[in-house]
Amino acid sequence: MTTEIVYSQAFHKHDNVGHPENAQRLTVMMDAVRQSPLADTITIVEPNLLSEDLLYAIHSEEMIEQVKEIDSQGGAWIDLDTYVCSSDYETARLAAGGLLDLCRRVLDGDTENGFALARPPGHHATPRRSMGFCLFNNIALSAHALAKKGARVLIFDPDVHHGNGTQEIFYHRKDVLYQSFHLSPHFPGTGAIEESGVGLGKGYTINAPLEYGHGDSVVSQLLDDIFLPVAKQFDPDIILVSSGFDSHHTDPLGGLHLTADMFGEMIKKYQALQPKLVCTLEGGYNFSWIGKCLLSQLGVLTHHPLSFPDTTQEKTDARLILEDVKKEVKKYWDI
Ligand SMILES: [Zn+2]
Repeated sequence: MTTEIVYSQAFHKHDNVGHPENAQRLTVMMDAVRQSPLADTITIVEPNLLSEDLLYAIHSEEMIEQVKEIDSQGGAWIDLDTYVCSSDYETARLAAGGLLDLCRRVLDGDTENGFALARPPGHHATPRRSMGFCLFNNIALSAHALAKKGARVLIFDPDVHHGNGTQEIFYHRKDVLYQSFHLSPHFPGTGAIEESGVGLGKGYTINAPLEYGHGDSVVSQLLDDIFLPVAKQFDPDIILVSSGFDSHHTDPLGGLHLTADMFGEMIKKYQALQPKLVCTLEGGYNFSWIGKCLLSQLGVLTHHPLSFPDTTQEKTDARLILEDVKKEVKKYWDI
C-alpha cells in the first residue's frame, strides 16, 4: 500500500509574489519531499478537474461566475486579501478534483492514504463567498461527494485559522463531523465553543478556540480528552485533514506554538482510529518550517516517522477553555 501526493505544476499558476499565500510555498514543500528519505516511498499523482456539477452543489452560481469572470479578465483581487489569477477557474478545480480523486482511491482501498499538495487552499470559502486566500472549498467539496455516496466523513482542521467555510457548509448536517482548534481572537472571527451546529447537525461541529502561545501539550490534551473520543463514537469511514502549517510557533500569520513534530503526532492519533486518512494543504507561511511540518505528517503516513529539533515556549494552562469545550460537547457525545 502506498502514500500518494497529488501535485501539479499547474498549482503554481495561482501566484502573487507579494502575498504570503504564493506559489513558492509549493516549491519549498516539493523540494523538501524530493530531498527527504521518504521520496522513494511516495507516488506523485497528477490531478483531474472537479466536475462543475459538484462545484454548483456546494457553491452559489454567483460566486462561481465571479471567479470565472475575473480569471477571463486576466486576474484581480476578489477581496482585500484574496486574489484570482488568469487560469484560476481551472487551477482551483484541479486542486479540488485532485483531492477528491485521492479521497476516492483511499476510501476504495486502492491506496493507503495521501496528501493533496494543492493550491489555492479552501477552508475559508463559504457556500457564497471566496475569501481568506481561498476560492473554492476543496475539503468540503470532497467531504460532500463522499458523504453523498454514504460515507461518514470526519474533518479535522488544525490550521491556526478557523475553517469558517467548512463549518458553514456542514453546519446543518450529521454525515460530516467537523473538529477544529484555532487561535482566538483571530481571522476570520468565527469558531466559538457555542457554534456546535443546527438542526440535524447539532453536535457535529466542535470548536476549540485556543489562546496565543498554546501549543503541543494543550493540543494533545484536547485531542486525547475530547476530539478523539468523539471521533471514535462517530466512527468515520474516512478522515480528511485541513493541513494548515500556520499553527507552527514561527508562523508569521499565526500565534499558536506547535512544534514541527506535533504535526505528525496529530496525524498518528487520528490514523490509529481510522487509517483511511487524507490531508490537504491549507495555510503555512514560514518557508523555513513548512517543509518540515509536511515531512512530519508524511513520515507518519508512510510509516517512516521523521523528527526535527524544534523547541518553543508554550502556554500550558488551558483548563477553563477545555472545560468549556467539554461542557458543550457532553450535550451530544459521551466523553
Ligand atoms: Zn490558516
